[in-house]
Formats: sequence, structure tokens, C-alpha cells
Amino acid sequence: MPTAAHAQLRVSRLAAALPVHRAFHWLHLHQPQLRMWLLELLTIPAPPFGESARAQWFLDRFQSLGLTNVHLDQAGNALAELSSADAAPNGPVTLLSAHLDTVFPPGTPTTPSETGSRILAPGACDNAAGLTALLGLAAALRHANITPPTPILFAANVGEEGEGDLRGMRHLFFEGPYRDRIRAAIALDGAGTGPVVTRALGSRRFRLTVTGPGGHSWTDAGAPNPILLLAHALSALATVPLPNVPRTTLNIGQVSGGTSINSIPESATALLDLRSTDAAQLQATESDLRTTLAPHPVLIEVIGDRPAANLPDDSPLLRTLRAVDRHLSLRTELRIGSTDANIPLSQSIPALAIGTGGTGGGIHTLAEWYDPTGRELALRRILLTLLATLPSA
Ligand SMILES: [Zn+2]
Repeated sequence: MPTAAHAQLRVSRLAAALPVHRAFHWLHLHQPQLRMWLLELLTIPAPPFGESARAQWFLDRFQSLGLTNVHLDQAGNALAELSSADAAPNGPVTLLSAHLDTVFPPGTPTTPSETGSRILAPGACDNAAGLTALLGLAAALRHANITPPTPILFAANVGEEGEGDLRGMRHLFFEGPYRDRIRAAIALDGAGTGPVVTRALGSRRFRLTVTGPGGHSWTDAGAPNPILLLAHALSALATVPLPNVPRTTLNIGQVSGGTSINSIPESATALLDLRSTDAAQLQATESDLRTTLAPHPVLIEVIGDRPAANLPDDSPLLRTLRAVDRHLSLRTELRIGSTDANIPLSQSIPALAIGTGGTGGGIHTLAEWYDPTGRELALRRILLTLLATLPSA
């Protein structure tokens, strides 16, 4: 395991290498190109479960950059490799990914507008910023003729947001042909130069449903009322203990049901979001929740499952990032969040989600914006971290 001093030495050697300089130089000259890519991909909607047009756009870009093994996997992830001739055919790969999907439903207007350097569009920051960083880094590596000792796997992946439930990452790590080969993963997400998500916030999401025969409010009065029964069940949930340490939260986010004011409803539904920083606590609170609901006529369905996990402080990936940050005089700001990194982290594979520079706001709203000014530094940071973390062949 490399020590901090080793990591520092490795990073300074890399940063001084001529090919790495060529890559930095490409990034310096091609910020307008990254902006054009960003504007172009924003015009291609990528609602949850509707990422295929944007994935296709990525396959075309990957092709024209001269990456190898460019293809769409069964989950709909757009994949490509930067490989070297002497890499073992089924040897380790390092994943660099950015999620394709937005939270916005089909039909949301996505054409971007520009005010000065600012780009306004739903998804401009989350995650068009990350997606253009993915392309920019691939292009810089290609331009600089850098052949990594072991392949870099580029993925513009599906299903990061909400009900996508990390299905793109699940496929990569559990089902696809790369499943046993990924040794480290870096997810590019949104803006910012400091923040890095290394602690995966776990969540379990549930749909609670109560059904009944329904009927007329007057003539069928007395029939079981699903809304009332659901309301009883939900108020019982207020007794579920939620610790502050490890921080654990339970939200009832949406309630629906019923047909009209003078009908006894046939069904009522509530959506619940349970979160914890600790995997064991998440399980314990879920079991409390189930015990509390047991006396109620409620059907419980799990509609989301994101594992909690941490990147250990002595992980070589985190050491590398810290060394890069010292080299670039950046502050390493570790954060907790629910990202594509949850999946590898839950499998004890070193992973993090990192901001791709510039600034952004209004995330997940129609007023979302992204300003790429100054993003070069973050891109250099990611490039150095990626290269310094590649395992040797
Ligand atoms: Zn995102």
C-alpha cells in the first residue's frame, strides 16, 4: 500500500511528464470545444429511463476520438476504452464515468440559453458538466497520446437519478462483462473544484399501498377506507426512532389516492425515503419500520435501494487525491452523498464522485445553470488523480 510520501512522489513525477503537459495544454486550448459539446448534448433530452438518444451521441463522440471497444451495453450505458497494446485481455480496468440521465420528465424543454458565460438549461450542471468533463478528459488523453498501463473504461451511464436507482452502475459492477475487472471508479458529477463524495449515503425507498373495494360515499358508507387506513399507518411511523448518530432520516415524500370527493377510495399510496450514513443502521431502522407497519393492512414494496459505504481514509485512491490536491494547492473537501460511487463502494472497490469544475446552481430545477469559467483546474485534478491511480499491467 503506497504511503502518503509515495503518492506525493508519484503525482509530482506524473505532473512533470511531457505527455501529461500535452493533455493539460489540450484542456487549456479546448475550453470552447467543451462548451460546444455541453450546449449540443443539452438539446438531447435524457429523462429517467429515456437516455438512449444521448447515449448514442456519446458513442459517436467516443468513436471519433478513436477510443476502442465503443459500444452500448445491455443496460444502455455508452462505453469505450483507452487501452494499451500490452494490457492483459481480461485484466483490471479503471472506470471514469458520468451519468447521462436528468431528473426531468419527457417533454421538459431542454434548449439551453446563455447569459454571459452562464449556461441555463435543466441538467446543465447535473450532469452535462460531468459528461463534457468525461469527453474532454478522453480527448485530452488521446491528443497527448497517453497509453495507460491498464485500460481506462469510459462510461456515459444510465440511471443515476431517483428511480433509476443506480441501474447503470449495478449493471457495470454486477452483470456486464467488466463486472470483475473494475479496480477503481471515479464518477464525474456536477460543478465544483473542492468537494468529493467519498461517503455513500445509503437509502431504501418504499411504496406503501392500501386497497379496498371502494364505493359510493353515501350508499357504501362503512366500507374500509384506504386513505384513512394509510393515514393511520403513516402516523404510526412517527414512533420509529431515528438516531442522529449515525444520522438516519425517514421522509414521507408523496401521498396519493382516491377518485373523487364522494367516492370511497379503492386505493391509497405513499412514497417513503429512508436514509442513513450507516449500512447496519439502515437495516435496523427498516426492520423497525416493518414492525411498526405490521398491524396495518399495508402492502410494502421496495422501489429503491442504495447501499451505504465509505472510502477508507487509508485507501490508495484517497491518498492519491490528497497528493494531487497538495500538488495543485487545493483543499480536499470530503462529502457524503448518494451517487454512482455507492455501488463500487458497497463492494469495497475504491470509488469517489468528484465535481468537474466551474460553478452551478438550481440543481434539479427548471432554473438550473452552469458556468464553466475556471473549470480547467478541476479537470487537471481529475486527470492527475486518474493517471496516478491506474494499476500497473
Ligand atoms: Zn448528478
